[in-house]
Amino acid sequence: MSLSRPQIPAEMRAAVYHARGDLRVETRATPEPGPQQVLVAVAYCGICGTDLHMVNDGWGRPDSIGGHEYTGEVVAMGPEVAGLAIGDTVVGGPEPSCGSCDYCRSGRAMLCPERDTPGVSEFQGAFAEFICVDQCQLLRVPENLSPRAAALAEPLAVALHGITRSAIEKGERALITGAGPIGALTLAALRARGIDDVVVSEPMEARRALARDLGARSVVGPEDLAVPPMPFTIADDAFDAVFECSGKAAAVETGLALLVKGGTLVLQGTGAERPRLDAHRVLLNELVITGAYCYDDDGVDDALALLASGDLPTDRLLHPEDVPLDSIATAFARLGAGEIAGKAVVVP
Ligand SMILES: [Zn+2]
Ligand SMILES: [Zn+2]
Repeated sequence: MSLSRPQIPAEMRAAVYHARGDLRVETRATPEPGPQQVLVAVAYCGICGTDLHMVNDGWGRPDSIGGHEYTGEVVAMGPEVAGLAIGDTVVGGPEPSCGSCDYCRSGRAMLCPERDTPGVSEFQGAFAEFICVDQCQLLRVPENLSPRAAALAEPLAVALHGITRSAIEKGERALITGAGPIGALTLAALRARGIDDVVVSEPMEARRALARDLGARSVVGPEDLAVPPMPFTIADDAFDAVFECSGKAAAVETGLALLVKGGTLVLQGTGAERPRLDAHRVLLNELVITGAYCYDDDGVDDALALLASGDLPTDRLLHPEDVPLDSIATAFARLGAGEIAGKAVVVP
């Protein structure tokens, strides 16, 4: 325990969720790490689509602090912490899982019933000067990777998991609906893996420009995607995999209708709307619809390795203007309006 260290104040500033659209910067007691826990001084924390739903759509738990895409420096450790040291640069990884259920043992810890849901559980997030987490949730940031770029590790791991679920291979065609951060990271990761024929559908101009920069073969608007009228008709330029990253019911319906026979629709965009399912199209063409939740078991390690490789244009994937904690409410409103392309990161 080293909370007596002079650089750790007893109180910290944090963005606290109160109600729909109501996010306030307040003073909270700095958490004290218990056994196997680590206190991290937050350097950067990305704003996730889930965070937007929590605040802008009122999904959050009142009095909670969001933010799970963080990097920072280890500043204090509770008892029984091994393998980490004060001063280490770390990034947040998966929530703890039980390790013994059928899901954990088959390499699908994202489905473990013991695992908390970020933003919904008691989790205190990183839209704050400090975050206190179990040591098992932290990974060390590679030396050649900046803490700012490392803030992309968690959402990149989400994108990589979607690619795993799609089973897409080189030479196949992909469609991404929605070029928000997950759609953009999916595009960048597909290109880095040699999948060159990727079409992006996105209505907002700033995000369309980002998709072009990241190497989309073409960028279209949702209204440009023509859906075949009959369930047995396959579109001329059908896709082997569709990554639905917008959370829009219409995009789910369109994506499903644009698959090749045996193609896969990966659902990654969270949203409250329920699409109409063309069950006949699924049956006739043996389509696969799958969710992609969180990451592969070693997904955050893979994401860190990919970021450290230099194969991703991290400067373009990150929104150029970082968000001071005091401007977080404005940033949430702008992100909700689709005005910001790339991942916006908060600097507490
Ligand atoms: Zn996230
Ligand atoms: Zn488990």
